[in-house]
Amino acid sequence: MRNIYDLTLEEYEEYFLNIGEKSFRASQLYEGLYKKRIDIDEITNISKELRTKLKEDFSDYKIKLLIKQKGEGVNKYLFELEDGNKIESVLMFHDYGTSICVSSQVGCNMSCAFCESGRLKKVRNLYAYEIVQQILQIEEDIKDRITHVVVMGIGEPFDNYDNVMRFVKIINSSKGIDIGSRHITISTCGIIPGIKKFMNEEGQVNLAISLHAPNDELRSKLMPINNAYHLDELMEVVKEYVSKTNRRITFEYIMLEDINDSEKQALELVKLLKGINCYVNLIPYNETENIGFKRTKKWKILAFYDILKSNNINATIRKEFGSNVSAACGQLRANN
Ligand code: SAH
Repeated sequence: MRNIYDLTLEEYEEYFLNIGEKSFRASQLYEGLYKKRIDIDEITNISKELRTKLKEDFSDYKIKLLIKQKGEGVNKYLFELEDGNKIESVLMFHDYGTSICVSSQVGCNMSCAFCESGRLKKVRNLYAYEIVQQILQIEEDIKDRITHVVVMGIGEPFDNYDNVMRFVKIINSSKGIDIGSRHITISTCGIIPGIKKFMNEEGQVNLAISLHAPNDELRSKLMPINNAYHLDELMEVVKEYVSKTNRRITFEYIMLEDINDSEKQALELVKLLKGINCYVNLIPYNETENIGFKRTKKWKILAFYDILKSNNINATIRKEFGSNVSAACGQLRANN
């Protein structure tokens, strides 16, 4: 049985028409679920009879919040799913609002060498409702709206393309949670068929690519996905994406000491990205006990940054969050 939080507005319009109802019932249902945040039984502008039918046709199961941990400027949440699997989400408090980092899969199959989250292989994809509910429950917890969403938690979103795009539609709907598409970012390790599909989607959702290396040799060592989709092909579709959508693309580059942080590699990166409408997010690596990589020293991150900037590549150094509650990138699940 499908979950009531798993359908887009259009899917509900179709559903209501199919059962001989008016399509505006979809808006009423959405308003109850996402604006008023009430249960089916309480949506009284829908008749009792129809509510009973809805309850027959859909599950209203909610994922269970097990643990909430607070750190400096960050909350970390552990949820249990209907089948007992566990996922995490991280909420960050910024001066411009709040952003949530949601998971898209239970585990991940991408096996990036530096990533703690990926040590648990993929168990299954998340349904859209399981991603939607991460947002609903955390908004309820903080009694405030979440302004930004990044699909950068556990999992590879383009390995769960349809559910992730359905999730985006549901939260983006003005009749629903209404999070602007410009405030939503999907991060991929570089699955080319996914990027190709994504550039044909409507809306202004942002795309980020986890790059982490300026050449194939190193990237393949760090990210096995690079064996399937080489850098030259990846940069080809990135260029296509930028020209087709007119959107700037983000590259994430974690700084690993003595691995990808030299002056030479910075210049190589400049060469790779020259002329692309992009910006590079340099991410101080979060060390974990189980993996040997070290974080690049601050001065060296700054030197790398300076090389990019002086060669006209937009760059930022990511503000750090959550390392005191193991909520930082790559550290999710370590203790769970
Ligand atoms: N699979 C997607 C989204 C999840 S990873 C992707 O690869 O983009 C989100 C980001 O966190 C990626 O850029 C990933 O490389 C980065 N990351 C993983 N482990 C990290 C760590 N220990 N420290 C900092 N960033 C890390």
